[in-house]
Parts: sequence; structure tokens; C-alpha cells
Amino acid sequence: MKAAQLHANCDLRVDEVDTPRPAAGEVLVKVAYCGICGSDIPRLIKDGAHFYPIILGHEFSGVIEAVGEGVADSWVGKKVACAPLVPNFDDPQSHRGNYSLSKGYSFIGSRQQGGLAEYVSIPLINAVPLPESIDLKAGSFLEPVTVGLHAINIMDFKPGRPVAVIGVGTIGQLLLQALKSLGAGPITAFDVDDEKLAAAKEVGATYTCNSMRPEEVEAAMATTEGAAGFDAVFENSGVPAAEIMSLKVAGPNGKVMFVGTPHAPLTLQPAEFELINRKELIVQGSWMNYSAPFPGWEWTYGADILSNGTINLDNLVDKVVPLSQAPQIIELLQTKGAVKGKIIVDCQA
Ligand SMILES: [Zn+2]
Repeated sequence: MKAAQLHANCDLRVDEVDTPRPAAGEVLVKVAYCGICGSDIPRLIKDGAHFYPIILGHEFSGVIEAVGEGVADSWVGKKVACAPLVPNFDDPQSHRGNYSLSKGYSFIGSRQQGGLAEYVSIPLINAVPLPESIDLKAGSFLEPVTVGLHAINIMDFKPGRPVAVIGVGTIGQLLLQALKSLGAGPITAFDVDDEKLAAAKEVGATYTCNSMRPEEVEAAMATTEGAAGFDAVFENSGVPAAEIMSLKVAGPNGKVMFVGTPHAPLTLQPAEFELINRKELIVQGSWMNYSAPFPGWEWTYGADILSNGTINLDNLVDKVVPLSQAPQIIELLQTKGAVKGKIIVDCQA
């Protein structure tokens, strides 16, 4: 089969490799589409891979082609998406349902071979069934959709209240739409990029705010009760200015959820840190996208809203790259401004 193998930093090649055989408890997935995740960028171009040669790719959908011992034949032909965490089920955190907080887990597409290939063999428990009617390109968005759903799930989210979504790239736009589907009150999208804000508006943001413009921040605050701030704030960018903004726009007793992976040191002035004290904020982080029973509500609900049209992906796919042209991905990632949304790989082309 064809596979995009990373041989060294920035050295991605399309190689002919043996098609994997599903071991006991595994299924062989014929991969349809595989998304390139923000977390793949350091793996591809910043020496971030765990080993070489590696087949990356954890955001994929496909159809089960064959099954290993102990897996019912009725799985063959089913559409699935990958839930890439391979938990250490013996860890005490896994017993509590905190699979991504356990020690000793593996991960399809970073710690073991992933989906940037024509086929990949994965444990059946990692293959999330998708409705027959789903477009498999949409199916490849299940993993990123669940990132937002998990943050909402662990937050004790209350419908009907004003929410701020800070950073409306892929994760932010998906999270925003998930919030809407769960009955959030007015949603204000914050970003520094007017194009992304326009896209957020298209997918359902009630208000948008360019956080570089103080008058817009003031107007956004004015939409909340007593202009006191938002009940819930989701930070998705990992950028220090946005992290500080999250504390500023949260209202009294507000919940601030850090979803974005941080990329730079954050310095908080005493008055900024004190916002946590003065407003009695609840500040929490979110890591991955799993809950009990594995892989969790995030995946079943995510599959539903992706297949029934609740989630609009029109703005999100920037480029579809055929697997046979995979080295293009490195060029795209190294060219500033070349990628404005998600790169999806068509793994059968
Ligand atoms: Zn991802």
C-alpha cells in the first residue's frame, strides 16, 4: 500500500509499504480522509516525532475492510472514524474514566502508526461507528469536533448563558457550533483575524469581536448582564494575549476553560492574576477528548452532529491533498500564509 512516511524532520515521502494485517481485536481500516492537525505541525517540521520512519495522522475516517481474530465479521463495510488514544486501561485514572490523564497510553498517529496511508490497522475499540449517511470527509472532522465537546462536557456548562469563544480557527469554529447545538446563549467569537471572525459569524456566532480593537471588546462586554462579562469562556488559541483576554472577559464566578495548546511563555501582571481572585473565577484546562465509557459521549454526540448537518464545515477545509502528493504538505506548512484552514489528505488518491 501507499503510505506517507516521515523519515526525518521535514522529510515526508510516499512509500510503498506492507499493508498491515489486523491483529486479534483489531480492524483494518481503508482510510478515506485524514486531516492534518495543529499538533502534527511540530511532528512534521519541528523535530517533534516520537520515532522515524513514522506514519502520522490521527484525524481520519474510512471503511472497515477486514477484521482480526475475535472481531465479528459484521464490522466489515462499516464507516468509522478513529478515536486515536490507546489508553492504559490499568491506570487508576482510566478506572475513573480519565483516559487521557492516564500514564502509559499510546496514540495512533504519534506513538504508533497512523492514518496517512491507504490502510491502517487499529483496535476495534478505537474505531468509532459513523452513520451510513455521513460524508467521510465530514467524518474526518470527528476528532477535532470532540476536542470542543470534551471541554464543554467537563465544564458543567449551563445552556442559555452568554459564552465567549476566543480563537476561532478550526477548533474554535467547531466548538462554537457544538455550543450552539447544546443550547448556549449568545455566543461572542473573539479573534484578531477579521476573516476568521466573518467565518465564525457564518457558522452561528451571535456577535464577533476583534480583540485588537478596544471599542469592540467594550461592545462585547456590553452584551453581557451588567456588562460584567461572560459566564463561560473557551480559549482555543494558546496565544498569551488571548489567555489574558480570557481572564478579562470572564464575568463574576465565570468559568474559563483553556483548550488551546500554549506556544509561548505567559506573564501575568499581579492585577491580571488578581482577576481570578476578584471575580472568583473557575479556571480549568481540557486535555484531549475522552470520557467513560471509552471513548465517550464526545464521540457519539460528535458523530451525530457531523452527520445531521448541524456542523457546517464549509469554511474549514482549505486544501485537499492526494496521498500521492503528500510531500506538498511540508511545503505548504513552511510557506507563511499558505494554509488558511485545514489540510485534508485524500488517502485513496
Ligand atoms: Zn488532532
